[in-house]
Amino acid sequence: MSILVTGSIAYDTIETPFGRVKEALGGSAVYFSIAASRFTRVIPISVVGTDFRDDDRRLLEELGISLEYVKVAEGQTFRWVGRYEYDMNTAHTLDTQLNVFEKFDPGTKMDGQKYDIVFLANIDPDLQMKVLSACEGASIKACDTMDFWISSKRDSVFKVMERCDIVFMNEGELRFLTEEPNLVRAYKKLQARGVETLIVKRGEYGAICFSKEGVFFVPAFPLDTVKDPTGAGDSFAGGVLGWLDRHLDSSGAVDPVTFRQAVVMGSVVASFTVEEFSVKGLISMSDEELYRRFSLFRKMTDFEPLEKSSLRG
Ligand code: AMP
Repeated sequence: MSILVTGSIAYDTIETPFGRVKEALGGSAVYFSIAASRFTRVIPISVVGTDFRDDDRRLLEELGISLEYVKVAEGQTFRWVGRYEYDMNTAHTLDTQLNVFEKFDPGTKMDGQKYDIVFLANIDPDLQMKVLSACEGASIKACDTMDFWISSKRDSVFKVMERCDIVFMNEGELRFLTEEPNLVRAYKKLQARGVETLIVKRGEYGAICFSKEGVFFVPAFPLDTVKDPTGAGDSFAGGVLGWLDRHLDSSGAVDPVTFRQAVVMGSVVASFTVEEFSVKGLISMSDEELYRRFSLFRKMTDFEPLEKSSLRG
């Protein structure tokens, strides 16, 4: 059981109506790895600069995340500056500094090894493709992306998706990529390119999954405190794939019941991320609260079947 993930390791400066953090630990690979490490072994492939802090390295290692494929390169760690308004479903990017990612080559060291799941978190699609090509044997290949890459490397984004089993995408970015406002049609467009499962992330409205089993909805957990939505999408993917990895059968297959549980788990895990800035909420997630929120989800979405005869008379 293990998941290989490639994505950004970042220092994020974020402003929301509820506060501000400067150069806090973030990045798609970080949120994903912390979330998934709650359920399985995670190996990120990424790069940091010489400014990467020892405390942050220690934190990841203490969570059992293997840093053997995280290179340290001369230069600065990736930086992202973002702002959210009261509608916290949309991140406004103020600045992106790729820094050490400009010249990063993930290599093929992971070639030939068996990883059950490969997740190509939000990063340059050409880097995603290199990692994908080195891990063809994985049972599940999944990816995510964002508008930054859709605008600059649209064809590469499509090429990566065509080779993945599960695509995670934010609702607005899916519309932007497929040039299709209707989500059902957007799924059909991706399906025509070979994508079997599409999980559309909808911020505070939860997620919709399209697959050969049909459509499955999961709400977001209703919280009275949401401070910073950064990383919610990556934590969600970490919860989903971490749970799937833990429950894959020996042939690497996923049954529909496990898939639904995984999607709910993703939503539960993401709820911890948004309660605090940076990774603070995610790392303090307890088993008790995880279990409580998962159980509440069942209660919140369960209802009795309808007797057809009750519609008339
Ligand atoms: P999410 O809120 O889950 O979509 O992911 C937020 C994380 O993505 C932040 O921690 C950022 O550091 C990271 N991020 C922002 N822009 C990019 C980009 N262009 N490529 C890779 N990662 C990014």
